[in-house]
Amino acid sequence: MDIKMGPVMGKAPAVVGTIEIQPGQRVAAGQLLAQVETGKGNRPIKAPADGIIDTILCAEGEQVISGQTLFILTESSGSQENDENTVLKTDLFIIGGGPGGYVAALYASKSGMSVVLAEKELLGGTCLNCGCIPTKALIQSAQLFRQIRLAGAFGISVTDASLIPEQVFRRKEDICSDLRDGVASLLESANVTVLNGTASFTGKTHCLVRMGEKTRTVEFKNAIIASGSQPSLPPFARALHNSSLVMDSRQALDAGTFPGSVTIIGAGVIGMEFAFLYRSAGAAVYVIEFQPRILGNTDDDIASVILDEARKQSISVYTGAKVTDIRRTVSGQAVVTFEQNGASYTAVTDVVLTATGRRPYTEGLNLEAAGISVTEQGAVWTSDFMETSVPGIYAIGDVTGKSALAHAASHQGIAVVDTVIGKGHAVDHASVPSVIFTSPEAACAGLTEHDCRNRGIPYIASRFAFAASGKAKIMGETVGFVKLLCHKETRQILGGTVVGPDASALIGTITLAVKNKLTDAQLTQTVFAHPTTSEAVFEAAMGLSCGALHQST
Ligand code: FAD
Repeated sequence: MDIKMGPVMGKAPAVVGTIEIQPGQRVAAGQLLAQVETGKGNRPIKAPADGIIDTILCAEGEQVISGQTLFILTESSGSQENDENTVLKTDLFIIGGGPGGYVAALYASKSGMSVVLAEKELLGGTCLNCGCIPTKALIQSAQLFRQIRLAGAFGISVTDASLIPEQVFRRKEDICSDLRDGVASLLESANVTVLNGTASFTGKTHCLVRMGEKTRTVEFKNAIIASGSQPSLPPFARALHNSSLVMDSRQALDAGTFPGSVTIIGAGVIGMEFAFLYRSAGAAVYVIEFQPRILGNTDDDIASVILDEARKQSISVYTGAKVTDIRRTVSGQAVVTFEQNGASYTAVTDVVLTATGRRPYTEGLNLEAAGISVTEQGAVWTSDFMETSVPGIYAIGDVTGKSALAHAASHQGIAVVDTVIGKGHAVDHASVPSVIFTSPEAACAGLTEHDCRNRGIPYIASRFAFAASGKAKIMGETVGFVKLLCHKETRQILGGTVVGPDASALIGTITLAVKNKLTDAQLTQTVFAHPTTSEAVFEAAMGLSCGALHQST
């Protein structure tokens, strides 16, 4: 089989860089044979199939043209997949195909590296298969259902709207599988070798990937651990977990139906998103939270608006409450016993959803073989450049315990590739935005007032209410506000919060301002289109100096 040079774009000649194999060497499909430098960057030349390299028809430093045969390979059928001695050599080996791992793989490939990625379950990871995407797909259906029921306020009479769980869940699954296929085809066209198996370290430069009965050894110059996280289950929920009575978020997303009533344990982001989702789908919802307030790590103002809205929508929320027991009734319902202010209560519902946090997932990685350090919380320790205690091995995403957000994982992956190719920059976690997909949505980026006070940073805060926004009135969503904070002296935007319509989109502008240290004047000198919810960002920025124009002070 001839292995030829692909099309060469641009005017610069293609020049063979390093050749990674010898004549007579056995190679595996996807194995890097050579790097060719083209005007558009480095291009890895990989073995299209398992086999033996008969002849090498090019030399390092030689100019080659498109269509020129570079190697001759004699194919040999896949028996070597069982051969643990077949070493797949690569510039970058990535463990985990979630938004951390697969984005790093795409960017590394575009940057000229050969990349091998191991994924033991489904490409897309938690985010695409049992996190961000499926939750938001279900939320979209449930919110539309709720809006239809509120259609009277818009002059629309709807008599017979019903939510068909089977179809809602099928739509969710279709979205996930479309996106999953998209990730697979992006990786394929980027020449990333995907191994469907479980990776574990055998040393500082080698991993073994188990694919059922087969194994493959990967030798890497650099590696990224992007193995994600898993739900952390409280002890009182363990006995009934997996019984269809007590679910974690993954099981809830696979349930195929919405419960008539549910007790949610934990009022963090995942718990509150499910609370609004189930309520919009018509369920009776109880939320029990151990901490004194919901949405623990967010701005106080977000928490209080979301709590008010939850109560308005008849979601029962108990804070400062400790669950002590979960039992099954004779009729198959769940009885959750909890204590609040010294008194004991019970909630009886069809199911229980535990949303009590997630923990880094490192099972089976055999980190010890490479000497990789973990923190007390079981996360893989990393520097600000996401490098682990072993040079050349990096970790990104949930497994690092730094930020449990998909876009943070992707950003860290890009930063690692930049470091490997010598354009290194520390990851700026402070300006990573976060969004809560409740009704209304909430989002924040940068510092909160609480952060500023704690750090003694002199700041000014300004708040513009959506009640004064023309677009919010048109949308019928006037609850909430945009809040901006700027440094009292430098006038740089330090942080911002949005609760209300389009919060998930508006936070983009605020993130840009925080990350680039824009001043309030730079925001007010920017024109925001009318009528849009983005005008609320402009008004909040005006509030930092002379005062919002469309809101009396
Ligand atoms: P993951 O996405 O968890 O991917 C890790 C992958 O590694 C998995 O596919 C796993 O199978 C694989 N793996 C693990 N070990 C091995 C091994 N040894 N060998 C091979 N493969 C291995 N974030 C947001 O930003 N926005 C949201 O709206 C949002 N909603 C969420 C809703 C829910 C219900 C949940 C649970 C999470 C949500 N998140 C959200 C968080 C987000 O899903 C995670 O932060 C993100 O998926 C982390 O990406 P990751 O690449 O670090 O890990």
